[in-house]
Amino acid sequence: MEQLIYMDNAATTPVSEGVLEAMRPYFCGSYGNPSGIYGLSMKSKKAVAEARETIASMLGCEPSEIYFTSGGSESDNWALRGIAKQQRERGRHIITTKIEHHAVLHTCAQLEQEGCRVTYAGVDESGIVRLDEIRRAASPDTVLISVMTANNEIGTLQPVAEIGQLARERGICLHTDAVQAFGHIPVSVDELQVDLLSASAHKFNGPKGVGFLYVRSGVKLPPMICGGGQERGMRAGTENVPGIVGMAEAAREAAAAMKERAERERVLRDYFMDEVLRRIPYARVNGSREKRLPNNVNFCFQFIEGESLLILLDMSGICASSASACTAGTSEPSHVLTALGLPDEVARGSVRFTLGAQTTKEEIDFVIEKTAGTIERLREMSPFFP
Ligand SMILES: *Cc1c(COP(=O)(O)O)cnc(C)c1O
Repeated sequence: MEQLIYMDNAATTPVSEGVLEAMRPYFCGSYGNPSGIYGLSMKSKKAVAEARETIASMLGCEPSEIYFTSGGSESDNWALRGIAKQQRERGRHIITTKIEHHAVLHTCAQLEQEGCRVTYAGVDESGIVRLDEIRRAASPDTVLISVMTANNEIGTLQPVAEIGQLARERGICLHTDAVQAFGHIPVSVDELQVDLLSASAHKFNGPKGVGFLYVRSGVKLPPMICGGGQERGMRAGTENVPGIVGMAEAAREAAAAMKERAERERVLRDYFMDEVLRRIPYARVNGSREKRLPNNVNFCFQFIEGESLLILLDMSGICASSASACTAGTSEPSHVLTALGLPDEVARGSVRFTLGAQTTKEEIDFVIEKTAGTIERLREMSPFFP
């Protein structure tokens, strides 16, 4: 096989050299449990405290508002279940959207079974949530609104700040799943007016299995895990010190390079979309072209199955995905593309390419070439292709 071309950075990203170096000492040399009272432990404790400060400064919040978790899924689960439980006496209504990650949607489905009422707001044809649907759904028993900052499949940026305004006026908690946004575009908890925010290190060149939940001071949540007193008694278990240190270093690197990198990715992304639309017939870009993450490209190609295209692209050393990696293997069309109003047969022909810091124009040219050729072959075999 030729060289690997990795275009699935929304699924996960490689750990950078700098991150790996920052983590290394905490595996062997400085392995002390942060809860110990001797010098070895103090090093670990200090590293965790510094990591908390780094993350907080990026978000524009206090370090005491950051809780380290095992990643995006845990943070989403904690935010939703936590508020639902904490505010059970006040109300049992939650508002979210049809295009959330399954970490939010499946948690909501379970909360429904436990007696909560959930409204799933729709999106317009460009993949932006309909504010009026959220406004109309808000009622006196609404305790939580959860809207992602950026969608993981089609990269669309959601009007979280506007929703924050609305939530604040009505005294409703607002959570945002910022897993795709944090480390890629500026994310400020005050600009977004959010009370809770989830992020995950492996989506911004940090290690897998570590993330955080931001909880605005004054917002009450029950503990995620009971046990020792770690994370101020809210999330028990010995801290993942190397992971936390690695996440903070990844965040620092992301912040330093953000502007330049986003600009570069935007140029490559737009070139990618324009060239594909120019060269491949019956292709469409999914999601707004403007209100979009700098690294996300998502197409539908009519008369083919996205999965078949991906298998053939893999044979050329190209890693891409259809729908989200978490649902790969199922033949259901993506819930996000369905929410855009695309018919199932069109939604099934979707492919997502997500660029990374390492992506080059040469790689994109190669991917376009292979994609165009493969689609032509697949369509020749299709009984539906005119
Ligand atoms: C990847 C992802 C998650 C899950 O994060 P993990 O750290 O893998 O649990 C949640 N939400 C979104 C939007 C994601 O892209």
